Amino acid sequence: MTSSTLPNISEMICRLAQLSELSNGITRQFLSSEHREANALVCRWMEMAGMRAHQDAIGNIIGRYEGLETDLPAVMIGSHLDTVVNAGKFDGILGVVVAIHCISALYKEKKRYRFPIEVIGFADEEGTRFQSTYLGSKAVAGTFDFTSLGRRDVNGTSMQDALLSFGLEPDKIKNAARKPKDISAYIEIHIEQGPVLEEQGIPAGIVTEITGAVRFQVTVTGTAGHAGTVPIHLRNDALVSACECVLMVEEIARKHPKTVGTVGQITVTAGASNVIPGETVFTIDLRAADNEIRHKVEHELISEMQRLCQKRQTKISLKKVHEAPSVTCSPRIINQLQNAFTKSKHKPYCLPSGAGHDAAAMADLTDVGMIFIRCKEGVSHNPAESVSEPDIQSGLDILLEFLNAYD
Ligand SMILES: [Zn+2]
Repeated sequence: MTSSTLPNISEMICRLAQLSELSNGITRQFLSSEHREANALVCRWMEMAGMRAHQDAIGNIIGRYEGLETDLPAVMIGSHLDTVVNAGKFDGILGVVVAIHCISALYKEKKRYRFPIEVIGFADEEGTRFQSTYLGSKAVAGTFDFTSLGRRDVNGTSMQDALLSFGLEPDKIKNAARKPKDISAYIEIHIEQGPVLEEQGIPAGIVTEITGAVRFQVTVTGTAGHAGTVPIHLRNDALVSACECVLMVEEIARKHPKTVGTVGQITVTAGASNVIPGETVFTIDLRAADNEIRHKVEHELISEMQRLCQKRQTKISLKKVHEAPSVTCSPRIINQLQNAFTKSKHKPYCLPSGAGHDAAAMADLTDVGMIFIRCKEGVSHNPAESVSEPDIQSGLDILLEFLNAYD
């Protein structure tokens, strides 16, 4: 690699993977010095690919490739540059580097469309540092919550102070917001983070919607007692009752299409091997592609769990701790993506996204669309994350076909 040649996609991914706060795996949080280095590197690549690049007021890095008509709204493409703790090297990053290579290909051919194209590397999507997600894309969409500036990281540093020491001015974050008339669409390439495309045997898919999610903390209360003296038929075992509820989460999710339910944590309060559980606390994460279906499933699940607990004479109480509505990708963009898939000889396979993405926040500003790329065994948020070079090339080909026919 010479200093004036844009590295290839795999080289770029490896270079970014080296910018990590921790030596095992990849950890690059919002406003860290590694974030600063990543922005500098991506900025340089954007310029090498023929773009004018700048960093906005929240720390997003944006490159612009002018169109023949500069006053037309831009098509924005990209993803995020931050990572979770001990991440893989493709989540987010892939969407940014493929977008840069897409522009580089146009620049090499001296090809410009009527509309401008902007490539964006969002500063924060994962919310790892301040436990608040989509900070970069919300700033661009104009929905940034300024009360989050008071949030503190594990070291007690506020977001306000972290922005200042990064060299950004928190009260200028509003300047990062774009106007709907200036952006006609946001397109994101992202690894699937699930096993569906691999199961289908295809390299890429079109996202139809980003599923909504609701999370509960559930407490089941029974009667604690001696494990040796209370006969089975006289017990109100909170854990056994909770276990029936856990099975019900699976049963109900299985019954409804495009719905998933997960119990990821379960605790017996003051549990001991010789004590009948008196209280069990567990979590439910319920997701569905459609808000109406999710509400229906949620009500059905709650009433079934109440029925199960009543039968065992235990008490159940639920606390909703999180709720995010689903976001539908633009039918106009889905249609154009289908054409781009077909033109580049790929099956236009559609699937919902079970994970959240910047596109969900960008939907408040503009029409959004997403292309998923197959990843090995669906593994993500893990150093074992893996995407093949031919699959990445498929994503690039599809994106170029999409832009070529975009209107
Ligand atoms: Zn991601």
